[in-house]
Amino acid sequence: MLSGDRLGFDSHCHLHFHHFDEDLSQVIKNSKEAGISHIMIPSIDLDTAEIAAEIAEKYNLYAAAAFHPEHLPQKSESEMEWKKLRHILLKPEVIAIGETGLDYFHKTFDPEYQRYWFEKHIKFAEATGYPLIVHSRGAEPEVLKELPESVSFPVILHCWGGDESLTDIAVARGFYIGVDGPLTYKKNKKYRELIKRIPRNRLLVETDSPFLPPEPYRGKRNEPAYTSYIIRMVRELWGENLSIENTSFTLWQNAMRAYRLHPDNRRTDIVYQYGKLLYVNLTSRCQNDCSFCIRQFEDGLGGYFLTHETDPSEELVLSSIMAFPIEDFEEVVFCGFGEPTSKVDLLMKSAELVQASGVKTRLNTNGLCTAFLNDFQVKNLLSCFDSVSISLNASGAKQYNRICSPSIDGSWEHLMRFIKLVKSTGITAKVSAVNNSGADLQRVKALAERLQMPLRIR
Ligand code: SF4
Repeated sequence: MLSGDRLGFDSHCHLHFHHFDEDLSQVIKNSKEAGISHIMIPSIDLDTAEIAAEIAEKYNLYAAAAFHPEHLPQKSESEMEWKKLRHILLKPEVIAIGETGLDYFHKTFDPEYQRYWFEKHIKFAEATGYPLIVHSRGAEPEVLKELPESVSFPVILHCWGGDESLTDIAVARGFYIGVDGPLTYKKNKKYRELIKRIPRNRLLVETDSPFLPPEPYRGKRNEPAYTSYIIRMVRELWGENLSIENTSFTLWQNAMRAYRLHPDNRRTDIVYQYGKLLYVNLTSRCQNDCSFCIRQFEDGLGGYFLTHETDPSEELVLSSIMAFPIEDFEEVVFCGFGEPTSKVDLLMKSAELVQASGVKTRLNTNGLCTAFLNDFQVKNLLSCFDSVSISLNASGAKQYNRICSPSIDGSWEHLMRFIKLVKSTGITAKVSAVNNSGADLQRVKALAERLQMPLRIR
């Protein structure tokens, strides 16, 4: 067994099943001691998705949510169940959609109905960039057929059972392939030969616990700690005197990339839920560099990863917004980890999209857009919102420059002009300031009164 503070990833295990009710904490402890530092818990329906998310939150693991092809909702409940699933997919620890796919071995549901649901899950992954965890049993060619030729999201073919030619196709399309305990079974020579065809950067190890235990535990309950047996077998197959640690690290990196957790391809949350409100995170750009800005200390909030290395495309932002059940929220706030007016065209398009769904919109802004928009354009922008919250943060230019370090000359004047324009439109508005930021809050309060704007101290 591996041990110590090593990096290892069980890329697929069902800790939500009742098999772990009695000793879940111990099972997770065992995995850490065996060097399996990261665990993904995919689910099969709404109940297990909720449990998987709870476990992931409690133990700092990852979860995925989906309807397994053997556990699909009844036709009459389809839309409601799908909506509930998309609410679960909003949770910060739920970072992938899975497991979904096709199962023509059990055929609990007819193939056409299975394909309908598989397609729904694929479309969600396409819209959001969430990794897609695919189950296929007796349906490997059909699964490959259903998946788009070119994908903008990682595809993880869990517990892959395709033959050589299907494996070659999957590999050529850049999919990740998950291998399990049976790789260690003495008679499974063919399976081991197949694994040799998979490029090292596409292979994932998974236990599929509580099922498919490796050789020494056949007939017993499987658990994530036993990933180490599969890693050992992969090391043997890879040869070249690789150490167990290096093998485990390579496979860990693969899983980090597959689940978009790796710095190389980290997925940034565009839509996120905080309390009862939904937020849209368009950009990490900002004209200011406020001393209190959370971006100075964190890369996210509430468990979400919100730092954009590069701004997301318009297509991804709009499709991400529409992928989630926004109509169930009272208000959608355009805020995020940067200044939303830095992307003014996309901001307006996104807000209009939300408004068209009958949901209220709020803009949280530093109010500096008057530096690059004329009065007409600012009013046009404001027409996309039901309310606006403006960061005032100071009682005058000198204090503002000290606290907010703006990159735009005359920022204070731009901010004052923005407030004037906001007032002229009659839109619901307030200003805000941050406690302990070094601002003289009494003076800020007096200024807000003079401006006749409600003040919120954050
Ligand atoms: S204006 Fe907002 S996003 Fe920009 S630096 Fe200040 S706190 Fe951060």
